[in-house]
Amino acid sequence: MNKKTIHDIDAAGKRVLVRVDFNVPLQDGSVSDDTRIQAALPTLTHLLDQGAALILCSHLGRPKGVDPSLSMAPVAARLGELLGIPVIQAESVVGPQVQGAAGSLQPGQILLLENTRFEAGETKNDPGLAEQLASLADLYVNDAFGSAHRAHATTAGVAEAMRQAGKPAVAGLLLQKEVDYLGRALHNPIRPFVAILGGAKISGKIDVIDNLLDKVDNLLVGGGMANTFLKAQGHEVGDSLVEDDKLDLARQLMERAGERLILPSDAVIADAFDPHPNILVVPVSQVRVGWRIMDIGLASVQLFRSYLMGVKTVVWNGPMGVFEFPTFGTGTLAMAQLLAQATAAGATTIIGGGDSVAAVTKAGLADRISHISTGGGASLEFLEGKTLPGVAALDDTIAP
Ligand code: ADP
Ligand code: MG
Repeated sequence: MNKKTIHDIDAAGKRVLVRVDFNVPLQDGSVSDDTRIQAALPTLTHLLDQGAALILCSHLGRPKGVDPSLSMAPVAARLGELLGIPVIQAESVVGPQVQGAAGSLQPGQILLLENTRFEAGETKNDPGLAEQLASLADLYVNDAFGSAHRAHATTAGVAEAMRQAGKPAVAGLLLQKEVDYLGRALHNPIRPFVAILGGAKISGKIDVIDNLLDKVDNLLVGGGMANTFLKAQGHEVGDSLVEDDKLDLARQLMERAGERLILPSDAVIADAFDPHPNILVVPVSQVRVGWRIMDIGLASVQLFRSYLMGVKTVVWNGPMGVFEFPTFGTGTLAMAQLLAQATAAGATTIIGGGDSVAAVTKAGLADRISHISTGGGASLEFLEGKTLPGVAALDDTIAP
């Protein structure tokens, strides 16, 4: 990564503003899944061990203004438990109370600001808000990869404000890891490099297909997305999820990709979109009128498997079927197992996308994958080849 990280700075005795991704699920007023808090711990402990005082900030949910049900208080409690030290909860995001609390913070202490979306200026990337935040600290660290695709005051604006004040703005360890994994796969992959795309629709991922197509050795397409390609090839797809306005696009992509684009050879079809319908496994040429494709079949798994033999880099985004219904989770599970095997055989495997990550985690295979991205939207935009504002705003390693 061509951005400075916390390894390039000395945080001893400094007040450090850290943008973290503590956008965690809450249930009955407490944190129900602390994965994202855990993911920030390496950066936080690194800075604390150096003798820094930490001012943390994150958004939580999508409040429009102050909403006590989305206060960071439960997050402060959980973080305190994980670190074994008390976490001071600020009353707001900025203002006199925050300034006072930040000013009297001692090395080793942690102040957690309120939900950054309580401030209207956050999503507007308001320079005034960014300046107030920057004034709280000597250094800024962005470790919120999951928010790096947004140009908000706490992700982009504050980094700019720090630079104008002559203070460093650098990447945390989680953000660095994400950018390094995804960046290496995109720009310098060890080959063979195979991408696997699935999920509901082509339309949400056209830019990903477009960007990956010329970089990969093979692109394996499953999930609902494959249906539009199959229909474009002339197959009957019954009542399957199809984007009729994307048939031409599908044809163009297939032409451009030639033999590199691999579609499923068979399908699990159902007579209703239901957890327990009648089901059949058929070649893709024999999908019945009135039925719908719900998963890839075993022949497709074998076909995809043949492209993963000896692979060195794999990027996967999007489930192979309607995995929310266990009956149609088989293809996704089988692909997750193939990725785990590829990892064991020495490949770098990367999974991004909220549903794909949920499926692999549910299957208990997450720790057998090289890198599970914590940022759904951010990883998708990265794979599209877009610049992430939260990364771009950080200090360059080499002066431009
Ligand atoms: P991710 O969150 O990993 O990026 P998406 O959000 O693009 O993935 O897609 C996930 C959704 O795709 C799931 O809700 C799943 O049910 C749906 N899906 C996968 N295959 C099919 C299919 N054959 N028909 C309809 N929906 C599908
Ligand atoms: Mg999704």
